[in-house]
Amino acid sequence: MAWLSGSTRTRLAWVGLAGCLGWQAGLAAAPVTDPDALIRQIYQLQVTDHPRSLQVLAQLDRQAAGLTPAQQWQRRYLHAWEAMYQGDYARSEAMLGEVIEHSGDEHLVNHASAVLLSQLGAARHYTEAFELANRVAARLPQVTDAKDRRLLLSNLSQVMGSAGQTDLAVHYARLALATVPAGESRCYPASILVEALYYGKRLKSDSPELQQAFDDCPAAKAPLYNTNLQFMLADQLLHEGQPRKVLALLDRIQPSVDANGYVPAKLSALVDRASALAAVGEDDAARRLALAVVAGGKPGDADAWLKDAYEVLYRVEKRQGHAAAALDYHEKFAALDKAYLDDVNARTMAYETVQQHMLAQKLETERLSQQNSELLVQQKLDAKTAEANRLYLALLLLVLGFGALWMFRLKRSQLRFKRLSHLDGLTAISNRQHFMGEAERALRLLEKRKGAACVAIIDLDHFKCINDTHGHAMGDQVLCRMVAACKQHLRAADLFGRLGGEEFGILLVDCTREQGLAIAERIRAAIEAVVMERNGAVVTVSTSIGLAFTDSLGHDLHRLCTEADAALYRAKHDGRNRVAAGGEDLATA
Ligand code: GH3
Ligand code: MG
Ligand code: MG
Repeated sequence: MAWLSGSTRTRLAWVGLAGCLGWQAGLAAAPVTDPDALIRQIYQLQVTDHPRSLQVLAQLDRQAAGLTPAQQWQRRYLHAWEAMYQGDYARSEAMLGEVIEHSGDEHLVNHASAVLLSQLGAARHYTEAFELANRVAARLPQVTDAKDRRLLLSNLSQVMGSAGQTDLAVHYARLALATVPAGESRCYPASILVEALYYGKRLKSDSPELQQAFDDCPAAKAPLYNTNLQFMLADQLLHEGQPRKVLALLDRIQPSVDANGYVPAKLSALVDRASALAAVGEDDAARRLALAVVAGGKPGDADAWLKDAYEVLYRVEKRQGHAAAALDYHEKFAALDKAYLDDVNARTMAYETVQQHMLAQKLETERLSQQNSELLVQQKLDAKTAEANRLYLALLLLVLGFGALWMFRLKRSQLRFKRLSHLDGLTAISNRQHFMGEAERALRLLEKRKGAACVAIIDLDHFKCINDTHGHAMGDQVLCRMVAACKQHLRAADLFGRLGGEEFGILLVDCTREQGLAIAERIRAAIEAVVMERNGAVVTVSTSIGLAFTDSLGHDLHRLCTEADAALYRAKHDGRNRVAAGGEDLATA
């Protein structure tokens, strides 16, 4: 309630500290050294015995080095509270802010928030106060501790009341009341509810809430709250034109006010009595009391009481016909009233500004979250597209891979077929067609570089007899062995092919007549040397070879073959198992 100090037309500020910080139980203060016990003691003594609480705080400071982090934050909070009590709002604000931001202790955060709310109002930092109120209100659903909730709700109620938001103030106060469990004191939130109604000009002297609050705050148990309520009732009765009831009420509470000795309470009692006396026409007494207020109230601190005192003085002097004095008091009253209205306007404006700002922020947040969700959708879409692209790519690569593999296998089998199509199925040497083609190509090259070559045509002798005697399979074996024997005497560059049946052709490249004859002879001898066995019978074979040479016939294959064929014929004719070349017989058998 320091929140409303000096800025309202009521005189309620003086119970503020007890109200907003009344969370300590009334335990006895015994000398202790345990930091936690010290901290508890300070809380107990803050309002009941403030000088003693300072001593205990100093004791806690001396033990600062040994405090746990949690205790350090408690100490920080207590110093912040003390700074506020001393009116050093700048320092207190900074420290409370730190506690709220960094302590991580929910209970402490709640109390620091509650104190900071009151204090920001007292320092007339309305914008910050309403901003904090919004943050606290937003955090309320998470506050589980019932006492903390009550404290925050009560202070929020006061803040909203000061901003002219009576509905909200009443709502928060009722919520605070609802947090009180059966059997516990309802005094503080009940007073807050009455205040909310009072500031919203909804209180009547017979309002049930006021009656209930008196029941909840009996004078014997809660003198401060009770007196506070009495002053609100007095103010209300004045407004309702019942000054005599006010005078009676003030007479009733005066002993308690005197015993308390608290200056704001005294000022409230004085100015209310002056107003009531003026209302019943006791001008001299009213003037005397109002002047006492003027003499005792410091401008600034006591503006609320001064304003009412000047109003009383103005009325009295006017009624007495002291125009000059009346005018003077009226000017003073008007100045203070204007300052008060300015303050009300400042609060309302600050509240509106904060709400507008919050609304703008909310809209911006919604816009950003809309943008954000659009972005997320876009990102998801992009990711999906990228994934689909990757799949397509993988599919494409797979198809290409299969295509390439298929092509490779196709090509390989094509090559295989081609190669097979060039070969003789039995002996695996070139077939006639391939041999002739290759021989022609080789002869053309030899012709170009004037190289010599020799064509040999080989025909097995009486091969038919082998077939007939030993069977076709044996004949095949003989053909294979004969081919193997020939190969032994051929060079890599020489061409060898089966021309048909048991007839073979050889092109000996870079080969002179003499070399050709020698090779042919070696081949003939090698075939003759082949010995095979079947069913105990020995199988041998001989061959006749006809030769033709490029040195005499040139490089025409057809001509060479014809000549070799003729030579072969001669070899056969001359008795077989021999080599014949160019009409010349080289029979060895
Ligand atoms: P010549 O000394 O006059 O050449 O007598 P020849 O029996 O060798 O000649 P002929 O032309 O009368 O017979 C050739 C035989 O070769 C006939 C055929 O049965 C046999 N022959 C041809 N091709 C094959 C084959 O692939 N395998 C076998 N086992 N015999 C074959
Ligand atoms: Mg033949
Ligand atoms: Mg033959």
